[in-house]
Amino acid sequence: MEDSIRNQFDHIPERISGLVDLAYNLWWSWNPEARTLFKQVNPQAWKESIHNPVRMLREIPIEFLKRAAENPAYLRRYDIVMRRFRKYMNATGTWFSAQYPDRSSLTIAYFSAEYGLHHSLPIYAGGLGFLAGDHLKEASDLGLPMVAVGFLYSQGYLHQQIDPDGWQEDITEPLDHDAAPIIRVLDSAGEDLVVRVPHIDPPIYVAVWKVQVGRIPLYLLDTDIACNDPRNRGISSRLYTGDLEQRLRQEIVLGIGGRKVLHALGIEYAAVHLNEGHPAFALLERIRERVERGMNFEEALEQVRATSVFTSHTPVPAGHDVFPVDLIDRYFQAYYPALGIDRTEFLQLGVHPQLPGAGFNMTAFALRASAHHNGVSRTHGSVTRQMWRCLWPGTPEATVPIDYVTNGVHVPTWLNHRMRDLYDRQIGPTCPNWLAEHDDPAIWELIDEIPDAELWHLHTWLKAKLFNRIREQERIKWAEQHPGGRPGPAAGGAFLNPSVLTIGFARRFSTYKRAHLIFEDMERLKRILNNRWYPVQIIFAGKAHPADNEGKRVLQQIYRYTQQPGFGGRVAFVEDYNEKVAQYLVHGVDVWLNNPLPPMEASGTSGMKASLNGVLNLSILDGWWTEGYNGRNGWAFGSETAACEGRDGTDAAAIYDLLEKEVVPLYYNRSIDDVPHGWVKMMKESIKSNGPRFSSRRMVKEYFARYYPSLLKSAGTEYARTPAAAKPRAPAWEPQVQGKTREEID
Ligand SMILES: *Cc1c(COP(=O)(O)O)cnc(C)c1O
Repeated sequence: MEDSIRNQFDHIPERISGLVDLAYNLWWSWNPEARTLFKQVNPQAWKESIHNPVRMLREIPIEFLKRAAENPAYLRRYDIVMRRFRKYMNATGTWFSAQYPDRSSLTIAYFSAEYGLHHSLPIYAGGLGFLAGDHLKEASDLGLPMVAVGFLYSQGYLHQQIDPDGWQEDITEPLDHDAAPIIRVLDSAGEDLVVRVPHIDPPIYVAVWKVQVGRIPLYLLDTDIACNDPRNRGISSRLYTGDLEQRLRQEIVLGIGGRKVLHALGIEYAAVHLNEGHPAFALLERIRERVERGMNFEEALEQVRATSVFTSHTPVPAGHDVFPVDLIDRYFQAYYPALGIDRTEFLQLGVHPQLPGAGFNMTAFALRASAHHNGVSRTHGSVTRQMWRCLWPGTPEATVPIDYVTNGVHVPTWLNHRMRDLYDRQIGPTCPNWLAEHDDPAIWELIDEIPDAELWHLHTWLKAKLFNRIREQERIKWAEQHPGGRPGPAAGGAFLNPSVLTIGFARRFSTYKRAHLIFEDMERLKRILNNRWYPVQIIFAGKAHPADNEGKRVLQQIYRYTQQPGFGGRVAFVEDYNEKVAQYLVHGVDVWLNNPLPPMEASGTSGMKASLNGVLNLSILDGWWTEGYNGRNGWAFGSETAACEGRDGTDAAAIYDLLEKEVVPLYYNRSIDDVPHGWVKMMKESIKSNGPRFSSRRMVKEYFARYYPSLLKSAGTEYARTPAAAKPRAPAWEPQVQGKTREEID
């Protein structure tokens, strides 16, 4: 632990000072024993800190810490957890080291604009961020040599507050640097490390923070420092700004600046993994460095391609950044010459063949500058091939070189710890090391042997926890008495009843996710919700992007429904969806509803989190569910074919039919012990069929198996090769007229 941090915690008794190391390594967040260690110092202080150990250790009265340091029972636990932690951090016997005993040096640099790791570090917007966070946690658990780069968004976390009229207000909460698990990176002289982003004028400087994600260091870039002019200071203030120029500057800082920062830190890596197109300029900088060392552009591009992986995440066109040519000119005119190419050649790298005049397309560039690229589910792989086959004209769609690796979720993060204990009791005696091998489907067959009543009662307990949490949130809101008054208590869920079949719908309010779909036929829905003997209730949560007024209107509409007596108080909206709320929801509802407009959901991951905990998916056939659904582990509806007239009505009717004919009857069919055995059977099927397959362990291993040998080979030859002497640029790579493609460029 860095002295700069250690000094700030010298009030902590020496005997338990390891708590500081633990607090500054997110390892604690996916190891329940470590979490308990913080909680046991003082449960109220833990709660007050909103489960944030850094904040807790700063704010807790010293006497609580002294008491813990003198409590033999606490110290016994402390010693055991600290020993496990140190062993984890020093581990040599990892999965990776068993695969590649002599290859610890082949580090992969992972770049992403957002990371969802824990709510105490709010540098995420949604699914893409959680995918990145889970990837890092899993890479750590497997012992993969990896280093990651992202942004510290200092001004930009937006809390959602719903006004009495149902309109989403975005409340900015500046990051409290002292309460986040981040450490400022210093240079060799002990000063804050500051790195200049090359070739950009006026200059942009970045400071760097480090987050320890188990064994993986994540470096976060921060432009909010005094030596930057005010506009530059704001570059890292918020995620996905709508201001195109500022967004371009962000992506320059992330890619080119990020590459520079790793260099300044002396971190060697041999391959790059881009999470979505935002950080793609990192590849440009890798090319430039090679050109600087004397390679020609063509050769440098080839080498960078061979050692780069690009994962595309969205079939939504707006999800792909395109920058107008005049902006590119403004920021890159000093850069073209450094690459040894001219303007036309440069622009050609980012041309979308079908929209040649649109500007510099980051996805098109990333596809051209990486040899390995993939979508994030089988369906999305095929959609991505259709979208980008224009880069490989003449190639049949099936052989367009875009692969897929289906997403997965980090099991120790998303599996509730009480559920984990239950699985442990069932699986542990036969397979003590099951958590380390949890991507093996055979192990999960043992789930079938859990007594129905035990699984059901734990599920009921988790549901009660969710409801307590929602009511508590509602109580606090009510007590705070929003200006303008608070509408009736129905909105936030005060009327929710734990014995009623409960559907959860929580995700970003992007219009393609169709949060309003279940309200298509209001009368039919009312009949379902208000059924006297078999009632149903729905909990909604999610934020709209601050600039997405259409999303906000959908949210408002749903909010208004929560207040209509006709829905019987059976529709609730939980404010301020974040990682913590997500945890409660995916553990505690009965059914997870998902009804995007196919094929827009590239994968979706919240349903995977739900099914891991025995929550059943009721989902349209899109994204991961086309692979996950097996006819026995939940419900599916809808066809994969794209939008057509009347689609909303057909899909909604399919949901009502399933609810009326299958979901509701199965749920309320109780035997004498009040356990719905048929339902529990389906829960078990869902856990065991989805748990191993949609784990990030399976996913990271798959990336590894698919790309690592080739990366290794290419990186090996690159390492072996001494920088070539300067030679004139080979004429092989000719500027192309608009519309030409990668294949032709090659
Ligand atoms: C998992 C998760 C998401 C992504 O869920 P999708 O199903 O992909 O929409 C978004 N936000 C939070 C807080 C999550 O935990």
